[in-house]
Amino acid sequence: LLQLYAPLNFLGSIYSSIRTSLVDLEHMLGLLDETVEVADPGHPLPLAAHLKDAPPVSVAFQDVHFGYRKDREILHGVSFSVPPGGLIAIVGPTGAGKSTISRLLFRFYDTWSGKVLIDGHDVRDYRQADLREAIGVVPQDTVLFNDTIGYNIAYGRLGATQDEIEQAAKLARIHDFILSLPEGYKTRVGERGLKLSGGEKQRVAIARTILKDPRLLILDEATSALDTHTEREIQSALRAVSAERTTVVIAHRLSTIVEADEILVLGDGLVKERGCHADLIARGGLYAAMWAAQDAGQDAAPDSGVAASAP
Ligand code: ADP
Repeated sequence: LLQLYAPLNFLGSIYSSIRTSLVDLEHMLGLLDETVEVADPGHPLPLAAHLKDAPPVSVAFQDVHFGYRKDREILHGVSFSVPPGGLIAIVGPTGAGKSTISRLLFRFYDTWSGKVLIDGHDVRDYRQADLREAIGVVPQDTVLFNDTIGYNIAYGRLGATQDEIEQAAKLARIHDFILSLPEGYKTRVGERGLKLSGGEKQRVAIARTILKDPRLLILDEATSALDTHTEREIQSALRAVSAERTTVVIAHRLSTIVEADEILVLGDGLVKERGCHADLIARGGLYAAMWAAQDAGQDAAPDSGVAASAP
């Protein structure tokens, strides 16, 4: 009976991790209480997410129209493309459709018309499970489990060794902080353990994502202001995770997107401007106005409404 019990116990713990992982994913994408209506294809294409060192993917939106409800279109023909390993930043006021773009990449919904392509193929040609394995998200607000900080990182890839966990933590600039905790990696965190600050939680999320090693990375930048030191640490951690990986950043602070290959300024479900930072500044349009406002030290994150009211 004991022999039977161990594997059952193991299965039970896998089940609960899968459950929490789904809840976590849904939570961070704001999808709770919504039914997923998409179906897997009969003959799915491989996405090679399980291969170690699989190359980064290309991503493209082709004239995407989409709405959550039939009577309200949210994206009115959005197009962009990111080459393998490239970084695109999406900025724009709240409600512009930035998160909707990341949900479509995961194929939580199907477009009304137009295509979402990953590696040149429609996301409808892949299994959803493969998409979720291939895409990693660093959410705005990370959910920590009532467990050790080591487990909270390992959760990016259950079965990772302690060495791998520490490597990821180092890249995410959280290793030294962890060593300073009373029980190091075994320190319990979360609701019933040590409370971590927003910046520390975000670095835990970055370490998780480094362990997951996704082919496509979505960074949903935190809106909350961080002190300069924390901000710099997070920037450097994000650079570590996005280097040589195709990255889509939903950006809230302009300082983080200066290095993007391309910036999309989204407004009312349309791409209003696009280009690199220098081009957009030279153009003197919406982006330049947001930049000027932020530079002036006002509360002018791109989603604070400045873009909506700029000419
Ligand atoms: P952003 O990320 O730029 O703030 P979103 O993509 O979250 O914008 O939202 C775009 C629009 O879609 C908003 O008007 C929002 O109210 C609407 N929306 C977002 N999620 C849902 C949903 N699950 N059901 C219905 N409408 C939604």
